[in-house]
Amino acid sequence: MPVPKAELHLHIEGTLEPELAFALAARNGVTLPYADTDALREAYRFSDLQSFLDLYYELMAVLRTAEDFTELADAYLERAAAQGVRHAEIFFDPQAHTARGIPIGVVIEGLGASLDRAEERYGISTRLILCFLRDESAESALATLEAAKPYLHRITGVGLDSAEVGHPPAKFREVYEEAARLGLRRVAHAGEEGPAAYVREALDVLGVERIDHGLRCMEDPSLVDRLARERVPLTLCPFSNVRLRVVDTLAEHPLRTMMSAGLLVTVNSDDPAYFGGYVGDNFDGVRDALGLTEDQLRELARNSFEASFLEDDEARRARYLAEVEAYRFDAAE
Ligand SMILES: [Zn+2]
Repeated sequence: MPVPKAELHLHIEGTLEPELAFALAARNGVTLPYADTDALREAYRFSDLQSFLDLYYELMAVLRTAEDFTELADAYLERAAAQGVRHAEIFFDPQAHTARGIPIGVVIEGLGASLDRAEERYGISTRLILCFLRDESAESALATLEAAKPYLHRITGVGLDSAEVGHPPAKFREVYEEAARLGLRRVAHAGEEGPAAYVREALDVLGVERIDHGLRCMEDPSLVDRLARERVPLTLCPFSNVRLRVVDTLAEHPLRTMMSAGLLVTVNSDDPAYFGGYVGDNFDGVRDALGLTEDQLRELARNSFEASFLEDDEARRARYLAEVEAYRFDAAE
């Protein structure tokens, strides 16, 4: 069994594998512009974030009913469990669905039906994080949070994703203030394609507790010092960074340097169906490409639980951390 870990940066829509996309398309009478799953896999060749996002939104057309969302989450949890995931904080993009006429309640209740039995079926505890699309307006984000209010018992926090450049965090100040008033935790993508300044802005203007990606913080030494001092977690996604050309190769990924700088970094899969692997695959990838030691892999696993939103269940966090400490790498795989 792989090392126990939490996954903190995972878009549920990004777990849609070609096989499930075709199965749902057939069930829902949606025609995909690809001959078969092989042709669809061929389309998974991106040059940057925008070209990925174009395909990502196109494929969402197959997700229509609550059952579709339940199946999507079930498929992710099953794969995640096999890769050692014990806790998952899952992003979803309501605006990508409401824009297609799918009510937010269908999305949340569909995902919720899967998450309700995740522990029993897959041994995974879960949290749900509602993400706003930053290339949509601030008003649309506010309307989305308003529409989610009947379902807040299912939602732990809010996040911010999609095309980063040109959409600075401050654009969403008001909706993050409202989220804070509602008692929601706050995270945001920042410093992936956008500059280090967006990381500062996400901390100072949006009050986020974790930065998703954030690797461009390395361009600003005083920001690195602050992130290390304040123990702000960064949810890194190595395979995603290579596929979206944020770094050229895995061997050039700054993960090791970031660990050495004292940053609280975690390894995650982002959109695993599109980026070539789930979170355990990402762990294996960075281990091989960067020559990480067992101590470093254990640190990454420990970080994932320390960075997770388990303040409402510290006994569970302690149990997971004890599993990490007890894990024997040499007995595995
Ligand atoms: Zn992401």
